[in-house]
Amino acid sequence: MKFIPYSCQSVTDEDIDAVAAVLRSEYLTQGPVVPAFESAFAALHDVPHAVAVSNATAGLHIACLALDVGVGSRVWTSPNSFLASANCALYCGATVDFVDIDPRSRNMSLDLLREKLTSAEQSGTLPHVVIPVAFAGLPCDLREMRALADRYGFRILEDASHAAGASYLGRPVGSQFADATVFSFHAVKIVTTAEGGMVTTRDPALARRLQLLRSHGMTREAAELEHPPEGEWQYEQQMLGYNYRITELQAALGLSQLKRIGDMHTRRQRLAADYDALLDGLPLILPQRCTDRVSAMHLYAVEIDDAQTTASRADVFATLRASRIGVNVHYIPIHTQPYYRRLGFREHDFPNSVRYYKRAISIPLFPKLTEADQARVVDSLRTALRTRGA
Ligand SMILES: *Cc1c(COP(=O)(O)O)cnc(C)c1O
Repeated sequence: MKFIPYSCQSVTDEDIDAVAAVLRSEYLTQGPVVPAFESAFAALHDVPHAVAVSNATAGLHIACLALDVGVGSRVWTSPNSFLASANCALYCGATVDFVDIDPRSRNMSLDLLREKLTSAEQSGTLPHVVIPVAFAGLPCDLREMRALADRYGFRILEDASHAAGASYLGRPVGSQFADATVFSFHAVKIVTTAEGGMVTTRDPALARRLQLLRSHGMTREAAELEHPPEGEWQYEQQMLGYNYRITELQAALGLSQLKRIGDMHTRRQRLAADYDALLDGLPLILPQRCTDRVSAMHLYAVEIDDAQTTASRADVFATLRASRIGVNVHYIPIHTQPYYRRLGFREHDFPNSVRYYKRAISIPLFPKLTEADQARVVDSLRTALRTRGA
């Protein structure tokens, strides 16, 4: 029986030709394709600036730096995310804390954020940056979060690694409310460059800082030099940056993939709507659907509803894996990792994330998934949950 992974890239002959064309060209790095990819991504997300980076983790790191996160800064994020959403702040010497999720959306809870801000204000420990995460591709409540950011003086760095092409209040994710938004192009994400990422912002000064931080903090622009140039070779390092550049090959793959993002989205939406219908009536809690935002449907994560079934998550997971269905679990709450426990976090600190995690399973969802694959997933889930199908 064919193995069905939980996610899988879609790479076409056209994508391969685009990468091959770069290999035959003059530039493998720092050529014309990276800026073309950035412009296309910015246009698609209706935002003036997009800075491509080697991966989203690098993007989160330099976005924190560009937002002045440093030693003594406080950064809050969601525990229901990949490690990088929190690690990026630690790279800068900041202190990380978490705001628990809303059990329905599985994104950072606005109510809990409000509560935490109120007490942080009293104790003089307000955050400098808050990193909401668009879990599974569902955009966060950024309009309300913007109002809180303006009131309490923090910046918003949105981790939209799952959410390329998603929209909120009729506008693309990354185009409004957040100070900067980070996307991932890892192979399992919405569009891929194998490894890669993008940071979008409306702020031109922030975009320029991101460009410098991505490449050693170094500039050759005559207008930016602090000292008169000694010759045309002149370059200046003006801050401590990194080599977080993406290659021309990766950008060519991304640019080619972007042409199909609309089709890939439609396919994901279609499959997700089918899952909604096919899984209805099973003892599962399905992803939330909202009318004011369109999820990119990076993941289709269900929760085993323990009020309705005695089947455990571990059993369901094992049964599906035994049927050669590549289920996965997103996410082990970050604060429960050994490294974070050593920083002082305890499992019960963020109970919604822990409760969600203990029941969650991500089932296969990617554009190339067929109806027959999907039927197999649903049948196996039914068997695993020991219920008779409708
Ligand atoms: C994938 C992912 C990242 C990291 O992306 P990379 O491109 O692999 O560095 C960060 N945050 C979230 C939520 C992710 O899913």
